[in-house]
Amino acid sequence: MLDFNDLCQAISGEVLVKDRNFDDYTTYESDTRKDLTGAVFFAFDGDNFDGHNYLDLAVEKGSRLLIVSKEVELLAQDSVAMIKVQDTVKAWQQLGHYLLMKQRKAKRFAVTGSSGKTSTNAVLSQLLESIFPKKVLSTLGNTNNHIGVTQNIVRLKGEEECFSLELGTNHPGEIGDLAKIVKAHGAILTSVGASHIGNFTDEEAIFEEKIDIFRYMEEEGVAVVPEIFSEKVKKALSDRQDIRVISFGKSEKADVRLLNYELLMGKSLFTVELHSGEQLELETNLSGEHQLLNICACLALLELFQKQWSFKIEDLVPVIRNLDLPGMRMKTEQVGDKTFVLDCYNANPQSTAAFLKWVKELYSSGTLVLGDMLELGDKAMSYHQAIFNQAKAMKGFDLLTVGECFSKVNSEGKAFLNSDEAGEYLKANIKADETLFFKASRGIQLEKIYHKFRD
Ligand code: ATP
Ligand code: MG
Repeated sequence: MLDFNDLCQAISGEVLVKDRNFDDYTTYESDTRKDLTGAVFFAFDGDNFDGHNYLDLAVEKGSRLLIVSKEVELLAQDSVAMIKVQDTVKAWQQLGHYLLMKQRKAKRFAVTGSSGKTSTNAVLSQLLESIFPKKVLSTLGNTNNHIGVTQNIVRLKGEEECFSLELGTNHPGEIGDLAKIVKAHGAILTSVGASHIGNFTDEEAIFEEKIDIFRYMEEEGVAVVPEIFSEKVKKALSDRQDIRVISFGKSEKADVRLLNYELLMGKSLFTVELHSGEQLELETNLSGEHQLLNICACLALLELFQKQWSFKIEDLVPVIRNLDLPGMRMKTEQVGDKTFVLDCYNANPQSTAAFLKWVKELYSSGTLVLGDMLELGDKAMSYHQAIFNQAKAMKGFDLLTVGECFSKVNSEGKAFLNSDEAGEYLKANIKADETLFFKASRGIQLEKIYHKFRD
């Protein structure tokens, strides 16, 4: 933990009340529901919430230093130190940057993209962990936003060799702010598609937003990008000639190529051609072309660090065989005679299309349960229509939809407005031994249907 003076400098603060007798802080926090004994408390001031209203509670719960953006009268004014900054969220981000930069020797990696950030970051951190056991700090859960990125960084112990952080965006400008915190040595762009497009003008604007991850990279950083965007990224980074752009994909033009793959129940076999020309025969418990491409992206990055870290990319083969993905991402669960394939952590047109492709490649029949893809703005209907058409064209599969958007395009089929109604219908009508495939945005809560069968 930083001491009072270092912290004040890190966040460009103005001292309101100096800390006279307590420098040994325990944590950096912004949530009064947590244990705040000895904590540095940041009062975030948002649209719906102002942490400055909770300062007395923060002190009562043991906080020893308050970071504020306005001066407030406190009940225990004398017993707590206070630093004033212009913007507490900015100060929080400055803190994240300062802590990362203090760890001079460590490599900083970042992952962004419209789909596949958490999956790719999970793969990357497990591969890194095998090279540097217990010396990798990576994003927990999905904490990838303006607050979340620093929430991960403040967990650092000071022994880390690598950081692997997920950067997410809902609105223009967010990736830039997060990329400045990380100033990555290597960054992966997994994909560009229409996620949160309601908040952007078009996919071009999403592309511009995503590649900010590279614009604020460390000198001579490595940018790993899908092959289809490779030229475009190079053009956009023409004023950063120091950055090395490496592409991955299936095309012959890709630097790191997914040459072929076979999806089997419970595992996938695939061949990757590295930038060096070497071919790796691999097996993994992950499934779906998109997940294999996520692995390729990680290999594209790590291949470049072999010499520096004295490891061989072949050392990663056993780790790839057994990878963990967090949460409800492509999980298969058995309930009685029914099989549930759950991918309802989140959905956008790109990840739903990837999901359907995967189902079609691996299964020959079943019931597709598709829920609305949210935050698609005024293009929502055309995206739902395209996904509906893709699903309808899958021979051998029944289709059931959940949500308003799909109801409009699925006017003659089985369409339900919410998960409860769809669950009731399925419970009463689903055949024995059926496999059900679930995909929707989080807000649709499709997992409720699975719970109805299980509980
Ligand atoms: P979020 O925006 O919610 O943080 P994310 O970008 O972190 O999402 P994941 O949580 O890894 O993405 O995966 C979300 C969904 O996208 C899952 O259904 C997953 O199977 C699918 N997916 C993963 N990687 C890709 C990819 N490269 N292209 C398309 N879909 C993908
Ligand atoms: Mg994520």
